[in-house]
Amino acid sequence: MSSRSLGIPGPPGVPGMVGRPHRGMLLVVSSPSGAGKTTLCNRLRQEFPRLGFSVSFTTRPGRKGETDGVDYSFVDMATFQEMVARDEFAEYAMVHGNMYGTSARRVAQAIEGGQDILFDIDYQGGRQLRQKFPDDVVLVFILPPSIKELERRLRGRGTDSDEVIERRIRVAREELRHYDEYDYLVMNDDLDRAYDVLRAVYLSQLHTRVRGAATAEQVLSGQEQLL
Ligand code: 5GP
Repeated sequence: MSSRSLGIPGPPGVPGMVGRPHRGMLLVVSSPSGAGKTTLCNRLRQEFPRLGFSVSFTTRPGRKGETDGVDYSFVDMATFQEMVARDEFAEYAMVHGNMYGTSARRVAQAIEGGQDILFDIDYQGGRQLRQKFPDDVVLVFILPPSIKELERRLRGRGTDSDEVIERRIRVAREELRHYDEYDYLVMNDDLDRAYDVLRAVYLSQLHTRVRGAATAEQVLSGQEQLL
């Protein structure tokens, strides 16, 4: 089913799409590593190309296969600190011993431009965005079926040492404790089922009263819709 047939407003200024643009939604998806977040997020972006992705700044070194400016913008610590001092981050946090941050300018542009944005950031970042943009943020947490299963998945990847895996499990427990700060909890015991829930969250959030108000006003005023 195409996004158009679901009545999803298109990006601003695109003729032939239903509805006027609403303020951009900030869709935050967090989870401990290994819970399937990346796979679920990639699938959502594939199905809904109007959903942009927030490329974070980080001080961690790039991994094999990562591209600067696409996966992350890689910067050194001095640059990161200068950006903090200039108040250039909408949120920032230390995760796994490295600094990560989201550009304030990009977030403001997205909200005002009616662009929905997907954020792969941790609970500290989600919390800061919620404080700054309470009406625009939707917080989704992906739950692994169990800690044991999480460990099995991390070992299955074969990319990390035992020490790194043990640290990730410790951090995972810490992250899981923050589930109650989120709006939606999506259990990923089955990828297709978890995806169904995630897309349902996105679709229903697109059609809240606040986001749909401009479209309703358009209908009310008798303006023709560009179909
Ligand atoms: P990784 O280094 O494995 O890509 O990401 C490690 C963790 O950092 C993930 O949980 C990811 O969600 C989080 N993260 C990535 N970018 C940001 C960011 O800009 N802000 C915050 N707070 N967390 C981030």
